[in-house]
Amino acid sequence: MANVLFDALLRPHLDSEAVFLHLPDGSRTSYRAFLASVGRYANALRAAGLQAGDRLAMQVEKSPEALSLYGACMASGIVFLPLNTAYTTHEIGYFVGDATPGLVVCDPAAEAELSAVAAANGANLLTLDGNGGGSLPGLAAEQPEDFEAVSRGPDDLAVLLYTSGTTGRSKGAMLTHDNLLSNARALTGLWRITAADTLLHALPIFHAHGLFVAINTSLLAGAAMIFLPRFEIGAVLDALPGATTMMGVPTYYTRLLDEPRFTRETAGHMRLFVSGSAPLLAETHQRFEQRTGHRILERYGMTETGMNSSNPYDAERRAGTVGFPLPGIEIRIADQENGAELAAGEIGRIEVRGPNVFKGYWQMPDKTAEEFREDGFFITGDLGLRDADGYIQIVGRGKDLIISGGFNVYPKEVELVLDEQEAVRESAVIGVPHPDFGEGVVGVLVPESGATPDVARIAEALGRQLARYKQPKRLIVVDELPRNTMGKVQKNILRETYRDLFAGTAGA
Ligand code: ATP
Ligand code: MG
Repeated sequence: MANVLFDALLRPHLDSEAVFLHLPDGSRTSYRAFLASVGRYANALRAAGLQAGDRLAMQVEKSPEALSLYGACMASGIVFLPLNTAYTTHEIGYFVGDATPGLVVCDPAAEAELSAVAAANGANLLTLDGNGGGSLPGLAAEQPEDFEAVSRGPDDLAVLLYTSGTTGRSKGAMLTHDNLLSNARALTGLWRITAADTLLHALPIFHAHGLFVAINTSLLAGAAMIFLPRFEIGAVLDALPGATTMMGVPTYYTRLLDEPRFTRETAGHMRLFVSGSAPLLAETHQRFEQRTGHRILERYGMTETGMNSSNPYDAERRAGTVGFPLPGIEIRIADQENGAELAAGEIGRIEVRGPNVFKGYWQMPDKTAEEFREDGFFITGDLGLRDADGYIQIVGRGKDLIISGGFNVYPKEVELVLDEQEAVRESAVIGVPHPDFGEGVVGVLVPESGATPDVARIAEALGRQLARYKQPKRLIVVDELPRNTMGKVQKNILRETYRDLFAGTAGA
């Protein structure tokens, strides 16, 4: 029976002895062995009473077993719902209550705490480690590896993935078989991924980036992955010689640049470095090229859409841009007020249409309706522009736009100027309540290691480079910016921290 994802990503490898995974202990898993394990897990899920369309929530440390479970869900038509390992039991309670999975899968250490959450929501609980009766590997060990994939069409749900919660409460994005497959096809073609590639995979697998961008492209191409449990710098440096490609977030690249061992000799053989999930600083881009001879390829995407755009593989990779829409995907820059399409160079909201765009937010029909336009474009929540050559630039999130004294201030514009100042490593610009201006611009700075920024001089420099309404009314020096696991700066935390900064300063 036809199953869109299984047929494209898994079935072709059923008898392949090619390496799928290189594991930290030096062992390897072939595609054939991986598929045998997928089959056993699929049979175990069926034995546990799960059916096509049911949800399976998983909060586990990254492991090959978690990958088998992902494959088993694909094959069984079960909707896969991976959850951030940083979430507390309280938070997991929210997701389990919202998604009502039939089964929750966790690590043994979390079993005691999560069993109440699962029980309260009518879900079963199994662990993904150990071999006892309450463990999925224990159940799978008793099952045969032959499994007939359950029929699934293009519009059937494959994954329910919650957004990162950077701008508010996480929303469940419903992604279909066709969403995931079309995205894997577009990226595999664009980035020339083949069976000769070995991807250094150090990303978490509870997020779009590490889950379907990295894994599905590898499966589609029949490529291998060096599957590391996390981004640990020593292990990553050791793994580099065996890899041809790497996908990462900007903080991975700054961490690599901090290492003297990371050079043209150790990294020059790589075919491709890709960055996304958060903006790559121009400085990182330049330092990376000087050190390794490689230009990092930056791309732009989100939970709801997978990948939307990428810098070109062959043509110029322009720093500060996320390149062009992927094949089959349309990107429109539209006026924030009336939705009309804007000309090159004008900042507007980024809208996306294509087979990659999700089906809607889980249990949120009103929210879904709000974020889609009548002609099918999805309003991403990001602001950007297209330059004269068609390269797309992300200017920031709509929710981060600061309106000070009635003027729009785009934080990124101010951050770019701040980042260039002496002794400043990076910055985040936020708006906080101000009695005279509505919002007051605040610049939060992280110094270069060991340096002390001269705040008065920086303020003077900003005064020469930026219109008065864009200049931060306060500059604050901190050791580091709050970031989530994907390296995204959590501006909501900064706004909360400095909420009262201008309280009582009316007319000052
Ligand atoms: P939430 O939607 O819950 O607030 P989130 O938007 O951070 O969380 P994700 O779907 O993980 O959740 O992240 C997608 C967002 O990441 C994009 O909308 C965009 O703001 C940002 N992003 C992704 N790639 C880039 C990039 N190359 N440059 C700048 N921003 C990027
Ligand atoms: Mg978002």
